[in-house]
Amino acid sequence: MRKIIAGNWKMNGKLENLLEIKKISNEFALSEIEIVICPPFTLLSAASEIAKNIYLGAQNLHPESEGAFTGEISADMLVDLGITHSIIGHSERRTEHNETNELVARKVNISLNKKLQTIICIGETELQRKENRTLEIIEQQLLDSLASNITFEKLIVAYEPIWAIGTGLIPEASEISKIHNFIRVKLVELFGSNASNIPLLYGGSVNGSNAPEIFRVANVNGALVGGASLSFEKFAPIIRAIENTDP
Ligand code: PEP
Repeated sequence: MRKIIAGNWKMNGKLENLLEIKKISNEFALSEIEIVICPPFTLLSAASEIAKNIYLGAQNLHPESEGAFTGEISADMLVDLGITHSIIGHSERRTEHNETNELVARKVNISLNKKLQTIICIGETELQRKENRTLEIIEQQLLDSLASNITFEKLIVAYEPIWAIGTGLIPEASEISKIHNFIRVKLVELFGSNASNIPLLYGGSVNGSNAPEIFRVANVNGALVGGASLSFEKFAPIIRAIENTDP
């Protein structure tokens, strides 16, 4: 199974921060981990000049290929630049930009069709968790955001409990285990036994200290990291943690 560490810089990063990408690129030149950094769109072009042994991803894309969509970026444009990954349906986009499962499904489709490694984010709110609705919400998000006829070879699923994003809170390892196993079962139900190869990432307040325990959980094949991906000093220990985890 591939192991993936993806960093989501969100709306952070100026030209001077390209140095962090350079450091990661140099430090992990020989790593077998799939390291992905998703800086803001403004840095992608410059980042692609220096990211030699790591991948670059986009934090969003438009569901159409081109046209009169002011301010938007298409999958074609990203591919043109040599970008290999995308993040679709992050909770911040679902909340702040009213992205529905239906829109997320359209974005996933075009992203996969354009051969981008596509990280789809799913996860419950704090209230849904308190109401014991986590599995129900996750199942619904999977069913509604993934068409049954997609080519899932480049699909990556990130479980990101919304209450854990940027809060310093993380679920117990047993909870992560239960939910990742559930996602695995649902993906196999949807797509057949080959879906057991779809990498499952955990996301939400991952750091160098909690990463080793998270990566020991079965069916956790990596992490989607926000805050701790912004600096080499915080991101590198997470990559080392997964390098040191038995397969
Ligand atoms: C995220 O936004 O995808 C995320 C996981 O953020 P953080 O690591 O900061 O919780």
